[in-house]
Amino acid sequence: MSRVTQPGVDLTEGESGPWESRALCAQTDPELFYPEKGHDSRPAKRICNRCEVAVDCLADALDGREPYGVRGGLPERQRRALLKAGVTGDVVRARRTTVPALLMAPR
Ligand code: SF4
Repeated sequence: MSRVTQPGVDLTEGESGPWESRALCAQTDPELFYPEKGHDSRPAKRICNRCEVAVDCLADALDGREPYGVRGGLPERQRRALLKAGVTGDVVRARRTTVPALLMAPR
C-alpha cells in the first residue's frame, strides 16, 4: 500500500513515491487542508481540483482510511461516505475520477 501524502509537506526530494512528488499541496499552506470543524474546506478543494495526482491521492486516502484533512478534493466525511458505499481505492484508480457521484454510480 502506498503512503498518503501530508498536505503542505514538500516530498519532491528524498523518499517520495511517484505521485507524492507531484502533489500540489506541497507548494501551499498545509493548514488549508486541515480546516477546523465548521470552517471552509473549499480553498483546499480548489487546490486539489487542479492537482494532477488527485486520483492517486484519494485512492490512497481511502485505502489507508485516512481520518483527517482534505485528500483528493474530499474531506474525511465524504471519504467515509464513499467507503460506506463500497468505493475503495481500486475503484477510484479504475475510474480515474474523484467525483463522488461518478464513483458511487452502479458498476
Ligand atoms: S489532491 Fe489535494 S491533498 Fe492530494 S496531493 Fe493533490 S493537492 Fe495534495
